[in-house]
Amino acid sequence: MTDLATRLGGVQQRITQAAITAQRNPAEITLLAVSKTHPAEAIAECYALDQRHFAENYLQESLQKISVLNQADIIWHFIGPLQSNKSRAVAEHFHWLHTLDRAKLAERLNDQRPAHLPPLNVCIQVNISDETSKSGISLAEVPALAAHIQQFPHLCLRGLMCIPAPQETDLLRADFAKMQAAFLSLRQTYNTVDTLSMGMSDDLEIAIAAGSTMVRIGTAIFGQREYHKEI
Ligand SMILES: *Cc1c(COP(=O)(O)O)cnc(C)c1O
Repeated sequence: MTDLATRLGGVQQRITQAAITAQRNPAEITLLAVSKTHPAEAIAECYALDQRHFAENYLQESLQKISVLNQADIIWHFIGPLQSNKSRAVAEHFHWLHTLDRAKLAERLNDQRPAHLPPLNVCIQVNISDETSKSGISLAEVPALAAHIQQFPHLCLRGLMCIPAPQETDLLRADFAKMQAAFLSLRQTYNTVDTLSMGMSDDLEIAIAAGSTMVRIGTAIFGQREYHKEI
């Protein structure tokens, strides 16, 4: 087995074990392979191991990879911050956006989503640890943005996403629990809502215990990132 195969298998096992520990069905949890900074070949290798959901953060880099990877059944997720003037590329090339945090961006994406494609799946990003520097909205603002998104035929509201601050486990658990409560409440209002996007390489077990349905895993699958690019 290659290193990648070993690491991917290890992550799948961690997810299964965490689900069992939380008395949940492992099939409820989707593994999103976060391939930012890693080459298209690494994605292709992961694809050959049956991984289908991939996530990218930087637009330029991701468009390049999408253009060389022609496997039609890859599901592309954009999980980086998105400037409004770059929304068109996401509307045209991605299946999901996890970082929707403002009404204006929703409106642009709805206008720019090509009519022949199914609606763009979106998650509202919540700034759960209330860090002034991070993107995302407060939990109090979620209902209004959700209602706004709901009017747009080319967007499909799937749920909530967060990137908690690095913090002690107890505080992290508390943040994830707040996300879970907000997710369950949103799901009661909108029948398209089925996704709670939280959990990364270091905290996927804690996120799954708190009801995560989609974990975003980079390092534990692809290894350390060699560089960090801002585009
Ligand atoms: C990079 C990134 C991840 C993956 O982080 P790892 O710790 O490498 O698993 C998940 N979510 C977002 C939004 C990211 O930017």
